[in-house]
Amino acid sequence: MFRPGTDETNVQYEDVLCNFCRRPWDPDDPTRPLIEGHHGSHLCGECLSLAYRAIVFEGRNDRVAGQPCTMCLEERDDEAWRSPEFAEACVCRRCVKQSSTALEKDKDYAWKRPIA
Ligand SMILES: [Zn+2]
Ligand SMILES: [Zn+2]
Repeated sequence: MFRPGTDETNVQYEDVLCNFCRRPWDPDDPTRPLIEGHHGSHLCGECLSLAYRAIVFEGRNDRVAGQPCTMCLEERDDEAWRSPEFAEACVCRRCVKQSSTALEKDKDYAWKRPIA
């Protein structure tokens, strides 16, 4: 997501926020990369780690019927993780897996998926 009032013709790094914790993107922090979803949604590496742990290791499912995934905008049947701070932000298991695989391949970042 973008900070309210962002100048769309001149978007700065700090205008780009993670939808799940609303912290701005810091391109100098290699441990907290930002993954882009559909319609300007973003998920940071820290929230991705939280989601991964909750869904993969704890078997948690925060899915609410009728609420699509913030990242892929699909209403899916697989597990979902909801932001503890911003309930309107949730991410599905497929997006968590795809994002993890993509981030681990990205050599600009030091992100690794959590280990049980
Ligand atoms: Zn985040
Ligand atoms: Zn999704």
